[in-house]
Amino acid sequence: MKLFKSIKTFRGGVHPAELKELSESCEFEIMPNPKQVIIPLSQHLGKPAKALVKKGDVVKAGQIIAEQDGYISVPIHSPVSGKVTKISNEISASGFPKESILISADESNELELQPSLNLDWVTPEEIQERVKWAGIVGQGGAAFPTFVKITPQPDKKIDAVILNGCECEPYLTRDYRYMLEKTEEVVDGLRLIMRSLGVQKGAIGIEDNKPKAIKKLKEVTAKYDNITVEILETKYPQGAEKMLIKAVLDREVPPGKLPLDVGVVIQNIGTAVAIFDAVVKGEPQITAAMTVSGYGIKEPKNVIVRVGTPLADVIEYCDGVKDDAIKVVVGGPMMGVAQFDFAAPVMKATSGLLVLTAKEENLHEETPCLRCGKCIDVCPLGLVPSKLARYSQLDRLEDAEGLDITVCMECGTCTYTCPANIPLVQWIRLGKQRVLAMQRERKSA
Ligand code: SF4
Ligand code: SF4
Repeated sequence: MKLFKSIKTFRGGVHPAELKELSESCEFEIMPNPKQVIIPLSQHLGKPAKALVKKGDVVKAGQIIAEQDGYISVPIHSPVSGKVTKISNEISASGFPKESILISADESNELELQPSLNLDWVTPEEIQERVKWAGIVGQGGAAFPTFVKITPQPDKKIDAVILNGCECEPYLTRDYRYMLEKTEEVVDGLRLIMRSLGVQKGAIGIEDNKPKAIKKLKEVTAKYDNITVEILETKYPQGAEKMLIKAVLDREVPPGKLPLDVGVVIQNIGTAVAIFDAVVKGEPQITAAMTVSGYGIKEPKNVIVRVGTPLADVIEYCDGVKDDAIKVVVGGPMMGVAQFDFAAPVMKATSGLLVLTAKEENLHEETPCLRCGKCIDVCPLGLVPSKLARYSQLDRLEDAEGLDITVCMECGTCTYTCPANIPLVQWIRLGKQRVLAMQRERKSA
């Protein structure tokens, strides 16, 4: 029986098995520092940071080792004290090599901090400056520089901030643990974002499969009459920005537009905690909180690890993989990226590491399209995934463009539901990249 009545949601979507029971009751553990960290200069959307150190330099944890380069960019701090051993191209969890700073860590746990700012008196400008210094990127997956999102734009009137507490990807429980273990910090982080943007209305959107977190959030927010906890139906992808705005505020974000265009800023639960830590504790973003789960890992956990820690070290900390493990994914099972090299490092926005067995994987053969229309029924954006994938396969880019392929948010809902096991989102992703390249060429012609 459900404890809370939830009626708010969006059109379409699917109900995959939640599989959160593996890790939802595991309190956060702090993993010991690794012997070596690999720090990609591009861990965010926008221009990579510019290295400020060279081989042989001695660095302290919290020291800026790469500076922001351009407006859409963030600085990077050393997650450990130690010595720079190399700057080279290294494999990343995206599957592509990235220019990275390698640091061999020493035993010290000392961390360079900024002075604490008073939560009640800090000004919007001080919040923005501190978040920029801390190099915070959004924890929802896109890793967009946070200071840009919390700085008011002269041509956009924002009247609401929503914290995304849905965590609708199966397995992941990082945000859930934050909402349980750091409820005050989550709510104070939301208040800081609201103050930075000069916004009076705040909401936390959370799915109805998290009754303990709902109860705690309601208790902590009870003293604020401008913050509400909105209980939403448990459905994938409830946490996607457009779906969340529709469910919480009943506003539609038109195709090709952003939440800003309908007066809303969305932030992730983990981002709110990072903002609190930067403003109140003076900490830069040098750790990632993540869920390690799946039936293929021996000890599922929620862990806080230093950015740059190799995935192999995290797996070892969780007691290694079981004999029947067949696949490792970074992120959730719907939108995450399968890994082929476990030397790839944890990045600022890494939220999960899944080790899956054959029974969790869809290993069925692909068959021709059955024309059942299920993919169209479930697409939350009203797209026609079967046609988009077909046009991508046939390289009919203008046709794909005409059906709004660039609007696809790559949620994977269509692939999940397809009875013919067609890798729809993979084809659509490829077609989308090609259409975007074609549009760029057109512009520059
Ligand atoms: S991946 Fe794209 S096309 Fe498929 S359901 Fe999601 S938004 Fe629709
Ligand atoms: S769900 Fe799969 S089989 Fe059905 S129409 Fe879409 S692509 Fe074809």
